[in-house]
Amino acid sequence: MDSRLGRRAFLTGAAAVGVVAFDPAGTGWVTAAEAAPDAVRLPELDGELVVDEASLAEAADDYGHIVHRRPVAVLRPGSVRDIVLVVRYANRHGLRVAMRGQGHSTFGQAQVRGGVVIDSRTLATVHRVEADHAVVDAGVQWLELVRASLQKGLTPPVNTDYLGLSVGGTLSIGGIGGASSHFGLQVDNVLALEVVTGEGRLLRCSPTERPDLFDAVLGGLGQFAIIVRATVRLVPAETTARVYNLFYPDLESMTAAQRRALADRRFSYLEGQLLPAEGGGWQFMLEGVEYYTPPAAPDDAALLAGLDPASTQVSEVPYFEWLNRVYALVEQLKPLRLPGPWINVFLPDGAVDAYVTEVLADLTPADTGGVVLLYPVPRDLATRPFVSLPDSEVVFLLAILRTVPTQDEAEVRRLLAVNRTLYDRARAVGGTHYPVGAIPLTPADWRAHYGPDYGRFARAKRTYDPRHVLAPGQRIFDHR
Ligand SMILES: Cc1cc2nc3c(=O)[nH]c(=O)nc-3n(C[C@H](O)[C@H](O)[C@H](O)COP(=O)(O)OP(=O)(O)OC[C@H]3O[C@@H](n4cnc5c(N)ncnc54)[C@H](O)[C@@H]3O)c2cc1C
Repeated sequence: MDSRLGRRAFLTGAAAVGVVAFDPAGTGWVTAAEAAPDAVRLPELDGELVVDEASLAEAADDYGHIVHRRPVAVLRPGSVRDIVLVVRYANRHGLRVAMRGQGHSTFGQAQVRGGVVIDSRTLATVHRVEADHAVVDAGVQWLELVRASLQKGLTPPVNTDYLGLSVGGTLSIGGIGGASSHFGLQVDNVLALEVVTGEGRLLRCSPTERPDLFDAVLGGLGQFAIIVRATVRLVPAETTARVYNLFYPDLESMTAAQRRALADRRFSYLEGQLLPAEGGGWQFMLEGVEYYTPPAAPDDAALLAGLDPASTQVSEVPYFEWLNRVYALVEQLKPLRLPGPWINVFLPDGAVDAYVTEVLADLTPADTGGVVLLYPVPRDLATRPFVSLPDSEVVFLLAILRTVPTQDEAEVRRLLAVNRTLYDRARAVGGTHYPVGAIPLTPADWRAHYGPDYGRFARAKRTYDPRHVLAPGQRIFDHR
């Protein structure tokens, strides 16, 4: 049986070689020969709808390799029109739909059991790079946008540490990085969007055109509309990154130095990491980066003034190399398919030292098998209403990016329970979670996550996706 359900299969469907219809009785996709009179014919597509085992298995997996919800088909859209048609079809026939970017969330967020996954990788064109913005398809990886914009001496103002994420994926979540200390999140640097709502309407939105929809979609976890195209801000790029790694023996000295560096915005980029220390335990590293273009040069003394590290390493790399520094490593890790029960929480400034100290009491470097990030972001630069952050002038992101070294299910279950405990403790001190990790959550947790904004969030769902077609993998409204 031909497992592609695209234009060709549809056109030849009458000759009974392809799967051409969905049987509403629940038997799934059927060929023309098998189709009962009430089977529902698919619309003609520019791309293809596939039902082969490899495609379904890929769509039932993600970077976390913990949750596996199998869809009934994967759409590889050939056009935005395909997305409109399939979302309308899903509305008519009770199917659910999840757009999948690069599948780099870790707990099934881009999956849909028994529904249709839309693979955005086939809609991945950088359409235009202008003096201060670019127009890109949602399936474009940030890496491609960075490459295209640097050719014109421009860059997205905020980049995630890893550039292999899709534009639509991070704009649905937030998109945070070291330059967030200057520019907020990636969602704070978007000028306009084209989206397909949960009802299948193709709409444009911006701060002045349908601002409600614009506000809902950016950081809206795919709940209201599928982003198909984005106009994103660009700024002039420097050529070089001078990287200052400042090491501290204890947490409090590092966070104090981070606060100081954030207060006068002295670095172009500010992050921090908890690293295994020689002889056991942790050491604490502030990572400050200054972007510049020779012959200008950073003023080392001014950048380091008052930060008092125990030791300092300074290095220099071309700007692109800096942005793309973790790509090769991540690509090497992917084929190992190791479970990644990540947890990412935002903490109010006043709680961060005590919270992280408590976390570290139970966490050894061996427990994480990965990277632990800790860095501050000014709250006022984060402007999107549905990116839920603690109520504090400065908020810290703590990201425990665990990798379990073997396919050890019991260990994964244990770490999921630990994540839940850490999440509860974060909430108790006014924290929120950054929704890319693996934390077992209930709809009640989501209500708490959005707090006073939950009513607005639920209203937007009723307005733009009244049949709850989109992004069920986030499990915000129900657990089906
Ligand atoms: C190695 C690695 C490093 C990372 N580093 C960072 C970092 O530095 N900063 C940071 O902020 N995040 C980081 N992340 C997390 C990342 O931002 C999220 O996992 C993001 O969702 C991944 O994008 P994606 O394209 O893979 O999305 P997916 O995982 O495919 O999708 C995520 C969610 O968004 C929805 N979605 C996807 N595309 C669309 C669309 N076009 N329209 C509407 N909804 C859509 C999906 O349905 C799903 O609910 C990292 C992840 C990995 C694996």
